Amino acid sequence: MKSAIFIERDGILTLPRVERQHQVVPATLDEFQINKPALAALQQLKSAGFLLIATTNQPGISRGTLLRHELDRMHNLLRRAFPLDDIMVCPHDEMDHCPCRKPAPGLFTEAAFKWHVDLERSFVISDKWQDARAARTVGCTSMLLQSPWIGSGHHDFVLANLAAIAGKIIQLQPGHLAA
Ligand SMILES: [Zn+2]
Repeated sequence: MKSAIFIERDGILTLPRVERQHQVVPATLDEFQINKPALAALQQLKSAGFLLIATTNQPGISRGTLLRHELDRMHNLLRRAFPLDDIMVCPHDEMDHCPCRKPAPGLFTEAAFKWHVDLERSFVISDKWQDARAARTVGCTSMLLQSPWIGSGHHDFVLANLAAIAGKIIQLQPGHLAA
């Protein structure tokens, strides 16, 4: 069994526009901005032996405001920018009541099945409470980046930046020996 890091796409790997205190998810490739400084933290976690799996709710697919081929083009860029093993997408709208729209944990359990992941030894990185809730449901440790969207529900750690999150994960990694 492997350990994984589930990484929320928008706000961690990309820089979404913020309007009226909400993240606006890009609908076209032009609006899709990679958060390049995240690379160092991801490389560090990859070297530590974790699978890196991006996860994202993209209800625009279901609503018809985001075309699948446009999303594929964005994710091709994302794969080129970061050493990701997989990108898991929930394409559903809230009204679909699917099991994979976060805070439901379906993307995590699906990836765990596909990649033989030990969820208890895995981590979730996000700037949103929905990921912390999903992490809690399946036994992952949640690592939140300080943001306006972390809410007041359960989370394991809140840290100021990705470098601190990566450092903490490596410190918490089972089998890690403090130098
Ligand atoms: Zn879904």
